[in-house]
Amino acid sequence: MASEEPMEKLKTLRITSLDDDENEDEVPIGLNGSLNGSVNLTLHDEEDDDEDEDQVSVVLGFVEKPKNKWTLLRQLFPSKAGGAPAWLDPVNLPNNASCCCDLCGEPLQFVLQIYAPLTEEESGKNSTFHRTLYMFMCNSMTCLLRDQHEQWKRNPEKVMRSVKVFRCQLSQHNPFYSSEKPKYDGTDKPSAAGATLCSWCGTWKGDKICGSCRKARYCSERHQTTHWKSGHWTECRQWTASQDIAECGSKTTSAAPPIVVRNHVWPEFEIINEDESEYDTEMSDDNMNANSLVSRSKNDEMYTSMMDTFKGDADNRSWTSFHVRISKAPNQVLRYLREPKAKPLLPMSSGRPSRADIPNCTHCGKPRSFEFQVLPQLLYYFGVENEENSLDWATIIAYTCEDSCEGGVAYKEEFAFVQLVTQSTTSVR
Ligand SMILES: [Zn+2]
Ligand SMILES: [Zn+2]
Ligand SMILES: [Zn+2]
Ligand SMILES: [Zn+2]
Repeated sequence: MASEEPMEKLKTLRITSLDDDENEDEVPIGLNGSLNGSVNLTLHDEEDDDEDEDQVSVVLGFVEKPKNKWTLLRQLFPSKAGGAPAWLDPVNLPNNASCCCDLCGEPLQFVLQIYAPLTEEESGKNSTFHRTLYMFMCNSMTCLLRDQHEQWKRNPEKVMRSVKVFRCQLSQHNPFYSSEKPKYDGTDKPSAAGATLCSWCGTWKGDKICGSCRKARYCSERHQTTHWKSGHWTECRQWTASQDIAECGSKTTSAAPPIVVRNHVWPEFEIINEDESEYDTEMSDDNMNANSLVSRSKNDEMYTSMMDTFKGDADNRSWTSFHVRISKAPNQVLRYLREPKAKPLLPMSSGRPSRADIPNCTHCGKPRSFEFQVLPQLLYYFGVENEENSLDWATIIAYTCEDSCEGGVAYKEEFAFVQLVTQSTTSVR
């Protein structure tokens, strides 16, 4: 074992601010995560820009069970995690190639969506009046490990990813929603119907029809096969029979809407926002524990397992900053900040992407910048088991077009960057 007692090492670890402008004291960090006073934990950056991101408070996202059935409907422009996506443009959904994992071909699972509109002053266009970002991923850890190699490829011949981020935006006057603000009382209705969705996942467009009943719709052959095996073969026969009778009587061909079962999606949550600055106030260990749904032991477990894998000081420092910053609000699943100089909070400094590793927008050619990152706490809420081959990550970062460009396809693919917990472990073994 190369790491001699990581816990001991940590107790004595002192964090020094890397920002020279501020006269920060060294702050000792105890294992209990308590911090004496505030500290500027801006990560060191090899690039030349000033570290002023801490002046702007990051918006944190927390998950909660939705208050009402209708809270997460698309006409209310929700931010949500799990379940099926609430498609902003409900008609022009991503096409078949975009909706599948490029590595195994399995349709991707919906992770979360963030409603992040921009004013005309902010974006220079009115098409960002409504703006939603979506994240999807393949739930195979094998694919995510392969994806690790793909995400570093500069100008790949074919982009092969298992994690995808899409951006969709609409102007105030659009065919799908009223230009008035929703009333949020359960009476809001969309102005137009959406595309028919897959009967199995309820996520993607169901443009393939079951040949027998002509009622069940699928996004892919994979979901058709899975649905068939898991019981559609019986209901299909019943549906076909009832349709035959109906067709003998009158000419009412299958007008009934297809049934969507939404199998194998993660549990659904509403995302609630809070400013990180709200958590800057002094915080005792007691109230930290009281607010913590993700058990302290799970956090600590993750913490120790990550410490074990670190060799370099830079990673130690990076991970400690990461942990201290996250400990302010340990249940956060999301960090959002759309600012020209905003940077993600990285658990590991090795394997951090440089400017050149983030490809420019494939639609307009302008640079992409950091907009949000997802934390592994979300896996806990999704009930993902902590087993060897289960899905796991340290953070997933979304970089979006700086210009939030318009035109072209309704759902523009942006760039996702994944840092894995096991990254250093796998490279050592
Ligand atoms: Zn896959
Ligand atoms: Zn499907
Ligand atoms: Zn059928
Ligand atoms: Zn663009």
